[in-house]
Amino acid sequence: MFGQIPLHNELKARERVIQLVNKTKQDAGISGGAYYRGPGDLVARCLNITVIESQLNADEGLYLNSDPPTILLDTHGFDRDRVNFTFFHEITHHLIKQDDDLIAFVHEFAFEDSEKLVEALCNIGAAEFLVPSREIRSAIDSEGFRIELLINFDKIYPASKPAIAIQLAQCAPHQCIVVVCEFGQLPGHRQTQSLPMWAGDEKQPEQLFTQLASSSPSVRYAPGRFVKIRSDHLLWQVFQEKKAMSGTAQIPFHSGKKWETRCDAIYYLGKVYAAFHIDTPPSPLQQNFGF
Ligand SMILES: [Zn+2]
Repeated sequence: MFGQIPLHNELKARERVIQLVNKTKQDAGISGGAYYRGPGDLVARCLNITVIESQLNADEGLYLNSDPPTILLDTHGFDRDRVNFTFFHEITHHLIKQDDDLIAFVHEFAFEDSEKLVEALCNIGAAEFLVPSREIRSAIDSEGFRIELLINFDKIYPASKPAIAIQLAQCAPHQCIVVVCEFGQLPGHRQTQSLPMWAGDEKQPEQLFTQLASSSPSVRYAPGRFVKIRSDHLLWQVFQEKKAMSGTAQIPFHSGKKWETRCDAIYYLGKVYAAFHIDTPPSPLQQNFGF
């Protein structure tokens, strides 16, 4: 659709996804932030996608490249933030599938890690649907990069906290990784009604784990989801004391890779939001602590 020059790097692929999202929003008559409006959702209708709400065992959502294209969405047991985010993540799977240049890029340039790349692009697309990056960028320009911006934006874009966290990472003027941690049972350990693989097990322990992670565009490393946070980690302390803290901390990688950076973290509505700074954020034009 936009493709005259083949995509040749990940940055270009991210830009393409954002273009596709903004075009779709425009076609659906949405300005500002989108939100999931149920099976008759505006964006789904505009793209001729059928939405079926159902309880899924392993996934929160699923995109089926069928005729008509279909999204299965689990609205059971997830908060509105997660349902909103998952829906637009699945919508972005559809947009990518329809774009020949993106598909070519994914297969030719990222064949080893194609699934990971598509998932990251879908997260970027979901974030752009829910919270426009231009607004986050403009807030960072005037106030400096602060993880606390998430709280300000939560008031403007309700039920979009995962999207705000991703946009902060995507729009950061420096190299950083933003993570969202929640406390509970790791997925796969949630009770479902049919054939639990852990049948006979007692209730699984609850723990603090990364529910989402996003790296700023020039960072090559991506910490995954569902990494357990150890009890001696700064993020665990933030969770326990329910207050903002700064310090040095290990970036939570699946591999256990040791990499300690400066970290700013806040506790907000039951979750921990943190930025790991790989280099130093530039000084803000004006500091504003009035949140
Ligand atoms: Zn996905």
